[in-house]
Amino acid sequence: MNDNRYSGASEAELGFLKEIVRMLPAGLTVQDAHGELLLVNDAAAAQLGMDGSRPSPDLAPRREACRKALSAGQAVVTEEALHDGAARQVLLTTHRPVRLAGRELLISASSDITEQKNFEDQLFRSAYFDELTGLPSRRVIEHRANNLLARDHGGERFALAFLDVDNFKHINDYYGHAVGDALLVELAKRLGRDLRDSDMLSRISGDEFLLLLSPIQSQEEIAEFMQATLERLTAPFFIDHSEVFASTSVGISLYPDHGSSFETLRQNADIAMYRIKNDGKGSAAFFDASMEREALARTKIEQSLRLAILEKRFCCAFQSKVDIRTQAVKGIEALVRLRDDEGVIQAPGSFINLAGELGLIDELTHLVLAEIVKSIDLINETFGAEASISINVAARQAGNPEFMRSFAQALDNTGFPQRFMIELTEEAFVAKSHFQSEILPMFRKLGVGISIDDFGTGYSSLSALADITADEIKIDRSFITDIHKRPRSQGILRAIESLSEALGMTVIAEGLESYEELAYLQAASKIRYAQGYYFSRPIFLEELKLATPVSSESRASVASRPIQQNRQGYSRANGYRR
Ligand code: C2E
Ligand code: MG
Ligand code: MG
Repeated sequence: MNDNRYSGASEAELGFLKEIVRMLPAGLTVQDAHGELLLVNDAAAAQLGMDGSRPSPDLAPRREACRKALSAGQAVVTEEALHDGAARQVLLTTHRPVRLAGRELLISASSDITEQKNFEDQLFRSAYFDELTGLPSRRVIEHRANNLLARDHGGERFALAFLDVDNFKHINDYYGHAVGDALLVELAKRLGRDLRDSDMLSRISGDEFLLLLSPIQSQEEIAEFMQATLERLTAPFFIDHSEVFASTSVGISLYPDHGSSFETLRQNADIAMYRIKNDGKGSAAFFDASMEREALARTKIEQSLRLAILEKRFCCAFQSKVDIRTQAVKGIEALVRLRDDEGVIQAPGSFINLAGELGLIDELTHLVLAEIVKSIDLINETFGAEASISINVAARQAGNPEFMRSFAQALDNTGFPQRFMIELTEEAFVAKSHFQSEILPMFRKLGVGISIDDFGTGYSSLSALADITADEIKIDRSFITDIHKRPRSQGILRAIESLSEALGMTVIAEGLESYEELAYLQAASKIRYAQGYYFSRPIFLEELKLATPVSSESRASVASRPIQQNRQGYSRANGYRR
């Protein structure tokens, strides 16, 4: 050290400075041109494993950085990762050559950036890997596909498979999210089995996976591989003491046959997958051009549906629920209709599921209620002021507390909530959501009735019925059609009937179309109420008002049917015995 500069410092002061250097939180070393260490403070001793607190890390990279700094006569900044078993310490070190008292020295100062580094890594992992399954993310597979595309100079083919778990939402609703998550992890494992190093499986969202198979020889080879994979997926999964069954729908596109960019290939695989979903799920299909036309048509319907909602081009048809003995109208059901771009009236079958998928159904349901409120005087005039008014609510809405709360509020705002019933399918009741315990009581408090729609077609069973608290149960049309000729349906009908009676629920037969069906119900069952074309098709109130029926729906109106039927005088004398 330069004696002149420090000549004023006392021994005590020097000792004080040394102590401070020793205890600095940053690691500090000073070495001479030969690498001889002249000073090592406590933090540096610990970092370099010189104090015995940890095994000495590999210091070769550090020595190399020191050599570089000395020979260049310039500071060198390095990031050093020192591994100690599984633990890792990351240091940011500056090696600075200095001349002091005629000597070449190197001062190295290190700060510990381990925590910051771990956080960065975590950010990196979440950007590139899926946390749940550990699979690469969409970005990674896209990058991989783009590399293949850039590298290709003709001839090298690959396949992109889009996989979507069937009914995953039901599984999640029924078993809960923890089981749903565990299922995805197990699925990912089964999917990943038998892949080559050059293939890649990625989870791109909720229950969607992308699989890149490269290189490939032929379409047949991929078809065979996918078949084997799908078979492996059909075996039950054992999760949380439950046996869970899952199937997966797969769409596949091939490069270069079905596109020359990642986006096109992914979209086309998605389109092929969509076809499988509509064809009964659980299998695989390759993309073809006809699917593209279908997808275009679907997009058109989507657009017009969005527009129709925006422009409120909806109306309601009403169908009565009739007492089969007295012909009195017990209640009516509002059935939504859409007026499409060309002014043609569309039944819900063509758009209701889509509205659900596009997130438009909540608004639609509110529109139906608004339409009813607007027409309430005419409704009372036509069907009587005592008739209950049923509104359909989709199962997916029933499980959404936010919507159900707003809907309950809207029903309350009408001022006559007790007039209303909501019709729900069985799925709404069996899903393990808070529907029965929290949502239903809200409606009960308002006096809104609850009806189970399409009973017998859903996921529940007769035993599940015992747990459902509802006022009304509507037996699906599939059991009522030709009931007089079908002993099996008759048996089912009797079972539902007695169970409903025990549970205090009113039974309604849906889709009653013929005199024979009615006669059977009257003679051989205790069922009091029915709904169907036999009594009345769904009708538009405006058409009644104009008294000039224009559509076929309004011709068979409730006003004319029961009278005609009365005259024919159906009774139990039709040969049926209870
Ligand atoms: P749903 O609630 O079971 O309604 C009964 C359906 O059966 C109606 O079809 C009705 O027109 C039809 N129908 C009634 N009687 C007969 C008959 O004797 N024979 C035959 N073949 N059919 C009969 P629609 O109006 O096409 O509605 C279909 C489904 O769309 C409804 O089934 C309901 O699930 C749903 N839906 C209707 N309106 C709405 C709504 O506002 N919101 C929701 N979420 N769903 C709705
Ligand atoms: Mg209904
Ligand atoms: Mg129904």
